[in-house]
Parts: sequence; structure tokens; C-alpha cells
Amino acid sequence: MEFARIFKAIKAQVTIPAYYRYRGFSFPTDVEKSGGLFSCQIHGPDRHPSAMYNPNTGTMKCFSCNVYGDVIKIVQIIEGLKSPKEAAEYILRNFKLDMTLTFENEVKNLLSYEEQFRNDMMVSVEPVLWNYIDATGNIEILQDFDVLVKSLTDNVSETYEKINQFKEMLNAKRNGLPAERA
Ligand SMILES: [Zn+2]
Repeated sequence: MEFARIFKAIKAQVTIPAYYRYRGFSFPTDVEKSGGLFSCQIHGPDRHPSAMYNPNTGTMKCFSCNVYGDVIKIVQIIEGLKSPKEAAEYILRNFKLDMTLTFENEVKNLLSYEEQFRNDMMVSVEPVLWNYIDATGNIEILQDFDVLVKSLTDNVSETYEKINQFKEMLNAKRNGLPAERA
């Protein structure tokens, strides 16, 4: 599941022509744009281009060695890697892709109800936390918050209780202070 998403994101960012050029193989720019024949590197660089590139699908097919595949498959074959996973890792490493941005939205959707609940609860602490720090100057409270966050589990009611207790504690401490900065 997760790998399917990673593969998709990789293919959106690194094409077969991009990989070819990265490896020092030539790839015609017109073929990159509109598709067509190019020199296959898999059965050895052929004198007459025998591989067809389709920019719409991001795949290639070689009519000489019969290899068909997308950038991950082609990387796997050319680099002699054992699995598509290793090929994906090769691409991530060599192209220094930043998956965080690509996955930001997808990851949001991937969160379970419990994770989402936890995140929302954590976010709800922020204004209380900033008010508290603003009033007291006690920045060490962030460490307590960190400890609290790390103690949270998928137990929704426990999360609810812990976070609310923390908020109440912050408010109580803040209100109990001499009003020197208020
Ligand atoms: Zn070939």
C-alpha cells in the first residue's frame, strides 16, 4: 500500500528520460516530449534505436529485448537491483526527492481516526500553551508537553482526558500567577 504511493510519487517526479540523462545515457528531447524511438540501454546501447517511449504513461518498450516498464522497472534492470523497492530507494537516494511535500496531503488522508483525533487534540493545546508561555516565560513547559505527546496512544478517551488535564493545568497555573504581566 505505502509502496504503491511512493512509486506513484516517484514516477510523477522522475521520468525514464531524466534517469537516462542522470546515468549519462542520451535521450532525444523530442522523444521525451512526444514519444518515439530511442536507444535501449538494457540489451546494450543499440546502434538503431529500438525502444519506444510513451510520455503519457511514462513507460518504455524495447522491440529488441522485449523489456517493458516504467522508470522503476527500468532502474531495477539497469542497476541490477533485486526488487522494485530497491529501485525506488535508488531513485529516492540519487535524485534526493523530498517525499514530505508530495505526501503531505495523502498522508493526511492516511491517518487513522485515532491519529487524526490525537493530532487535533495536540493542535488544540497550542493556543493554551502559547498563552501560558507568554504569561510565565516558562519555556520548559514544552518539555512537559513533549513528554505528554509521547505518552499518547490510540486510546481516544485517554488522549482526550490527558490533553484536557494538561490544558486545565496550564490555565490554572497561569491564573494563579501574580498579574505582573497581565
Ligand atoms: Zn532493449
